[in-house]
Amino acid sequence: MPQYTIAIVGGGFAGVACARKLRRLFSPSQARLVLFAEENYMVFQPLLAEVAGSSIQPEVAATPLRVALPQVECRREKVLAVDLPGQSLTFESFDGSTKNLRYDHVVVACGSGVNLSAVPGMADHAFPFRTVADAVALRTQISNQLEQAAVCDEPGKRRYLLTFAVIGGGFSGVEVAGEINDLLRESHKYYPTIDPSEAEVILIHSRDQLLPEVSSPLRDFTKRKMEENGVKIVLNQRVKLVTAEGVKLSDGTFFNAATTVGTVGTAPHPFVERMKADKEGGRLKTKADMSLEDYGNAWAIGDCALVMNAFDNQPAQPTGQLAEREGKQCAANIAAKLAGRRTKPFYFKPLGMLCAIGGHNAVAEIMGFKLSGFLTWWMWRTVYLMKLPSFSRKVKVALDWTWELVFGRDITGVKIDRANRIVDAYFPSGAFVFKKGDPATDFYVVEKGEVEVLRQLEEGKEPEVVAVFGPGDFFGEMALVEERPRNASVRARVDTEVTVIGKGMFARMSKILAPLSQQISAAIRKRTTLRQKFPQSTAILKQADLTEIVEPLPSQPLSENSPFIAAVAQFQRDKADFFCVVDDKAQLSGVLTRTDLLNAAESLATFPPEQRASLKVRDFMTRNPLWVSAGESALLVAEMMRERSLKRLPVVYGLEDRRIAGYIRLESLMHMVLQKLPGNSASDTK
Ligand SMILES: Cc1cc2nc3c(=O)[nH]c(=O)nc-3n(C[C@H](O)[C@H](O)[C@H](O)COP(=O)(O)OP(=O)(O)OC[C@H]3O[C@@H](n4cnc5c(N)ncnc54)[C@H](O)[C@@H]3O)c2cc1C
Repeated sequence: MPQYTIAIVGGGFAGVACARKLRRLFSPSQARLVLFAEENYMVFQPLLAEVAGSSIQPEVAATPLRVALPQVECRREKVLAVDLPGQSLTFESFDGSTKNLRYDHVVVACGSGVNLSAVPGMADHAFPFRTVADAVALRTQISNQLEQAAVCDEPGKRRYLLTFAVIGGGFSGVEVAGEINDLLRESHKYYPTIDPSEAEVILIHSRDQLLPEVSSPLRDFTKRKMEENGVKIVLNQRVKLVTAEGVKLSDGTFFNAATTVGTVGTAPHPFVERMKADKEGGRLKTKADMSLEDYGNAWAIGDCALVMNAFDNQPAQPTGQLAEREGKQCAANIAAKLAGRRTKPFYFKPLGMLCAIGGHNAVAEIMGFKLSGFLTWWMWRTVYLMKLPSFSRKVKVALDWTWELVFGRDITGVKIDRANRIVDAYFPSGAFVFKKGDPATDFYVVEKGEVEVLRQLEEGKEPEVVAVFGPGDFFGEMALVEERPRNASVRARVDTEVTVIGKGMFARMSKILAPLSQQISAAIRKRTTLRQKFPQSTAILKQADLTEIVEPLPSQPLSENSPFIAAVAQFQRDKADFFCVVDDKAQLSGVLTRTDLLNAAESLATFPPEQRASLKVRDFMTRNPLWVSAGESALLVAEMMRERSLKRLPVVYGLEDRRIAGYIRLESLMHMVLQKLPGNSASDTK
């Protein structure tokens, strides 16, 4: 029975280095070493760009933990919590149950988290770049774009397909931009229909120079070399928005790009966030020897920890190099503690920085020397080869690199099944979800916001808005069911979030869920009948002047902050069917209907009487109701009312100006159509 149990949370640079050193310091009979990680391999992140650029095979950037750490108990299980005073951790076992492990010492080395919402739209439309799966997905995307562009006859679309925007000019941004660029240019010989000038990689960075970690002359070298190799570098610009069609910068420039890669957005790790310990900037604050304040047997190392480096009295940078050194010294400090010796503060003189920038070039600052160019790139490869944690991986990487130098990059794109995905997507106001002629690949459900359907009603005329869908509505079903390309475009009317369901998943769900398939059939019937069966009504509605039937609101709008009790009294007094509700800028923000009153009546009983008076209209109103703007067509109003079985629709002044201009009743709309039908006169219809 071992004397001690030492638990390590994390199998990255820090955790692996710590476990290795501990195993050297303690025999298995002295200490049981348990290492938890969410994957059964250690990711060697510096090689991920090479995976994306098809220089090496994905598996060589990942070393199995059991290979790297013989005689360490490696558990691919997620640690949920650490009870520091109770000296135990809770983890989610493989069978789904929750288990505990008592420890003598615990090392937290879980790395950092990701915050893709740092840039609006990045989580939905950009490729993240942190894991092996991310690198493989990007590699497949590059291959898909090349394949699509090779058979595309439209020069504009070809250029769009071959444009890649990379957000962030730090190490990973520079490396991945360089690799994508190299792959695009070196693959050219296999794609004779593509003109190399059609492909472009745009690297966008918020500061005035790339690579803040190296000195200024090397940053200039990096920019110059990358530009010579064809990468477009945009400095001093923040990406404000990522859409399915590209990126928008802080100065308003929009770059059309079919692929965006996000290398920014580090966040505190959720596991660390849950820990009851001192933190700074989301990292665990440690004492000089890397132990946690108040707990001599709990340690934090790597990206999740804020460790002071006694070499320069500065916080150690979150890099692989520092994480590894912290891991080694933490192991030595644990051994010292168990032996009753003094621990040492973390001290490490950084060896330098190395970064590959593409085109067989790299920059480096090593022991004060500044190096750049081809030989530095060779050194970059040699250093990382030596640093790989297992001999078999070293051999594999060396073989892959030799293969690439002799035979070129591997352009195989592993087919990834998008048909069965369910993902969220964000579309800012004005962005297209899909365009007429696009292949039908997905079904959509609106979560927040609104989209409008644009259809060309007459040959040679501009497409018109023929329908609007809001929260809970779905669209995109017709082309999927009829197995044809899109015959209309759909565009976000305001900032909109949708759930995207791949066509395979859609087919399965509508087959097994009878209510869904009934709803879809009903929607298809509803959405096609008016135009097909009643072409005359359609023509009348198209030409009608909407202002003819806009009426003033029957009652003054309510403010969303007015007391709910007063609103109920007003309902009673005005004998109203509904009230429009406005926000503090007098813009339409909701409606309060009789159904809302009924729902409120049920929930009011659950509030103590003294709280009821403080309830506001906003607590019960229907938010984001459908509306139409004064400039839109009566055909759109008819479609919206039919789709949702609405009897009235608020009218606002404009798409941007949502002050209320009045409302339209279904009866007025029908009256107008009947009056204008040939053969009918006003008196016939009265
Ligand atoms: C694309 C890219 C390129 C990079 N290039 C370089 C470079 O060239 N040079 C350099 O020095 N640095 C580089 N870095 C930074 C470097 O990778 C990190 O600083 C380093 O990985 C940090 O090591 P770590 O052990 O703290 O965390 P990580 O390597 O992130 O490992 C975290 C570990 O914790 C595990 N874990 C997390 N939560 C739990 C949980 N709840 N339960 C169990 N296990 C858990 C994970 O499974 C993982 O094993 C790069 C990073 C990226 C993303």
